[in-house]
Amino acid sequence: MDSRLQMIASHGLWGRTAPPPPPTTALSGSRDVDVVIVGAGYTGLSAALHLAEGGARVAVLEADQIGSGGSGRNVGLVNAGMWVMPDDLPTVLGSVHGDRLLDALGNGPRLVFDTVAKYGLECEARPNGTLHCAVGRSGLAELEKRAEQWQRRGAPVRVLSAAEAAARIGTGLYAGALLDERAGTIQPLAYARGLARVAQAAGAEIFTGSAVTGYAEDGSRWRVTTADGSVTADWIIVATNAYTTAPWPEIRREIVHLPYFNFATAPLSDAQRTRILPGGEGAWDTRSVLTSFRMDAAGRLVLGSVGALRNTGRAVHRAWARRALRRLFPEIADVPFEHEWYGWIGLTDTNLPRFHRLAPRVVTFCGYNGRGISPGTVFGRCLARLVLGQLTEDDLPLPLSEPTRHSFRGAHEAVYEYGAQAAHLVGVGY
Ligand SMILES: Cc1cc2nc3c(=O)[nH]c(=O)nc-3n(C[C@H](O)[C@H](O)[C@H](O)COP(=O)(O)OP(=O)(O)OC[C@H]3O[C@@H](n4cnc5c(N)ncnc54)[C@H](O)[C@@H]3O)c2cc1C
Repeated sequence: MDSRLQMIASHGLWGRTAPPPPPTTALSGSRDVDVVIVGAGYTGLSAALHLAEGGARVAVLEADQIGSGGSGRNVGLVNAGMWVMPDDLPTVLGSVHGDRLLDALGNGPRLVFDTVAKYGLECEARPNGTLHCAVGRSGLAELEKRAEQWQRRGAPVRVLSAAEAAARIGTGLYAGALLDERAGTIQPLAYARGLARVAQAAGAEIFTGSAVTGYAEDGSRWRVTTADGSVTADWIIVATNAYTTAPWPEIRREIVHLPYFNFATAPLSDAQRTRILPGGEGAWDTRSVLTSFRMDAAGRLVLGSVGALRNTGRAVHRAWARRALRRLFPEIADVPFEHEWYGWIGLTDTNLPRFHRLAPRVVTFCGYNGRGISPGTVFGRCLARLVLGQLTEDDLPLPLSEPTRHSFRGAHEAVYEYGAQAAHLVGVGY
């Protein structure tokens, strides 16, 4: 299979319905720029766009294709904030960074939707809010606490009753839901390809099929190498996150991979669409092995949960998805699934992202814990502003930290992958 077909298969529905990527080639020969960016996901592409607009000469090197990592595989929930409760952030990060991160990520969806509008990106953007759905009384209590903490900060969030939630979701299974009006949904791969197109238009060069295999000092500058070429630059932005391959193993060592899959149905009928998520919100529930669901523009329901669609996982999660669909939305119980795909979410031990300086003028943001659409866009712009001298390291929404090594990473990854199979096999939830 050629690499483009493989890419489309591995990105499921998103590979099928995204506009084509802008033309790119593999790097060959040598180049000289101000900034080399490694990785063409949201972080790298947002950095490239803002750097190019700021007048910097930029080259992006991507090992595979644009949006090949998490940015082309995710659910497309454009969330405001992290999993961590708002009041806990200042405790964990200190009040300066805690408040700054809350502010940056609370406003993150606005940056995403404004970027989409400003450049006319075709990515099914729907700023219609998200619904965090309460499973039982304990789920509702958690959401009430989260809502109260955001409301104190002036955020437009509110808890819906079970009846209100049922009307918006199209199922009576939940005890209520937290509506966040800042958030919404996008077609994730289309957003990545759109960012790439406008970054190119602003002057950034993007090279695909160009895995970075090494980097070394070249006088006072850096030289980054691929199989067939090299780029010399003053700065390196490492935007490889959970999909990191060499030569920055410290990023991968810090992150635990959590697998997450999605199934997409055939398009639903108009009548079904008036009952299931009629307002177009994205949704997920409060279970620890969570269930997420949203509509795409053609009215396909995209249903996801924790797990990898490989080996024994494929059959287990397929069976679970059918049961979950039947239980959540009995009227579409028999609608076929037409697409399936999965990817790796990068978890950190604090559930918070990290900012690292890997060497002088070699910087990265990573570890978005499954919340990367808004953060990738926001942090990419932060990195651009840092390089352009518009911000200092002290002004960023996260403190500078050293990469840590996650103890028992392999064991944790196996527990997530096989634990999710066990949970779905014994029918937790459905
Ligand atoms: C299944 C799934 C569901 C998710 N759902 C959501 C969601 O609903 N909402 C949300 O906000 N977030 C979600 N996330 C998280 C989100 O997708 C990521 O946090 C985000 O895409 C990270 O963007 P990034 O640019 O930092 O990294 P990525 O998009 O992963 O990009 C990194 C890129 O670096 C490249 N690369 C790696 N090593 C090298 C190298 N040596 N040389 C060159 N290139 C290299 C990779 O090929 C990759 O393209 C989900 C993630 C997954 C996997």
